[in-house]
Amino acid sequence: MEQKPPMPAQTQQLAINGISEDLDPAHLARFQFERAITYLEGFKKGLIDSLVAPRRTIELCFPVEMEDGSVQTFRGYRVLHNRVLGPGKGGIRYHPDVDKEEVTALATLMTWKCALIDIPFGGAKGGVSCNPKTLTQTELRRITRRFITELGDNIGPSTDIPAPDMYTDEQTMSWIYDTYDVLHPGRNNLPVVTGKPLDLGGSLGRPEATGRGCLYATMRYLEREGVGGRSSLEGASVVVQGFGNVGLTAAFLFREQGANIVAISDSKGGIYHEGGIDLDAARAFKQQHGTVVGLPDSLTITNEELLELECDILVPAALGQQIHSGNAHRVKAKLVVEAANGPVTPAADDILTSRDVPVLPDILVNAGGVTVSYFEWVQNYSNERWDLEVVNAKLQHKMFEGTDLVLTRWRSMREAEEKSFAAESESGEIYNVPINLRTAALAVAIARIANVTLERGIWP
Ligand code: NAD
Repeated sequence: MEQKPPMPAQTQQLAINGISEDLDPAHLARFQFERAITYLEGFKKGLIDSLVAPRRTIELCFPVEMEDGSVQTFRGYRVLHNRVLGPGKGGIRYHPDVDKEEVTALATLMTWKCALIDIPFGGAKGGVSCNPKTLTQTELRRITRRFITELGDNIGPSTDIPAPDMYTDEQTMSWIYDTYDVLHPGRNNLPVVTGKPLDLGGSLGRPEATGRGCLYATMRYLEREGVGGRSSLEGASVVVQGFGNVGLTAAFLFREQGANIVAISDSKGGIYHEGGIDLDAARAFKQQHGTVVGLPDSLTITNEELLELECDILVPAALGQQIHSGNAHRVKAKLVVEAANGPVTPAADDILTSRDVPVLPDILVNAGGVTVSYFEWVQNYSNERWDLEVVNAKLQHKMFEGTDLVLTRWRSMREAEEKSFAAESESGEIYNVPINLRTAALAVAIARIANVTLERGIWP
């Protein structure tokens, strides 16, 4: 190793609540990339540079007539980060915070995720800056149709394939399909978008795919590495932050494998029961009251306390940047499984790694969603509908394979690093940032894209 891996940047920007690190999503994505490439040799600098910059950024302004007769102008984005492995793939989100920087950082993450899990897609992401909570269904439909029309042939079944993301859903995907199909009549356009309803070419297993993928990655990790003497989920105590699509699905599936779910939470707070939360009762309670807080026979705790509970496995499945420099040293879980995107910051990664708490990274753990999106795309092209058992078996295969790749790479990188640490301490120069699973996962992904770029040859 010639170069030293970079250290997380400290800033004044967020020197609150004990957090003093740079949490800008674009900076985090760049930092993680730069740390991983210090472990990759033999790639020219120019090639590495080309892997960072997005291939295409589309920024649009378009008018929409609102239901009250007024006209509003919306800003929309679609970033295609990389398409060396295949067409771009990534969600479209509707949220007031959507901007070019956020969409670019998320498109970059999609590139690494698809490469790691080995599906023939590049990374992309899109969005419209709007507040869906204040918009009617008719207005959302008009925004979607106008946005897709403006994107024109910049999306397509073989070029760039959208999917649902924050505040977009099956209905939005149906409008996207319909708009594209109207503009391109006379051919099979179903593969232009994934996350569609079942009767419009959606795949069985897609809604729960991310939570199920999280289960498979965790099972494989336990089988290979073990946690606190356990090689399976049987009897493991598990804490899950977030009781939405991913967190709820993961909690139920982990329980099916014999785990004891001792705490869960949502945006209003968390609940704890040492003997195990009754998940069916919690789901019903949330449906009735809008939160799990207050479930009979459970102790109310805060989301901060939840993250610091004694347990075998902590699954953050809600928001990014939940475990940071201010609380990582208080996390008592023996394994952290990142179901959400970016719940552990780089500084927290280092604190946890140095405390021997492995973090199974997001680009592996939550790749189940895009993997089953890929299955949907394949089914659409071949006019097939796979049984649920087939979808789940294929997903398990992909998640086990991805986890194996990360662990094998991590072991070999760690061995090389230990030799280099030993040489440094002999020379009196001690520099010790243990390699973590995220860096190994990124190294697998980046190396795959760099190699394929070279195999294809740089044009002209
Ligand atoms: P969701 O909206 O269905 O659920 C989010 C859950 O988090 C809700 O229960 C919400 O109450 C809870 N929450 C919100 N703020 C919270 C807070 N401050 N503390 C604790 N809980 C809070 O979202 P989802 O689809 O389950 O996604 C969860 C995470 O997984 C996100 O980071 C998302 O980007 C990531 N992810 C989701 C998918 C997918 O297929 N749904 C795929 C990849 C990654």
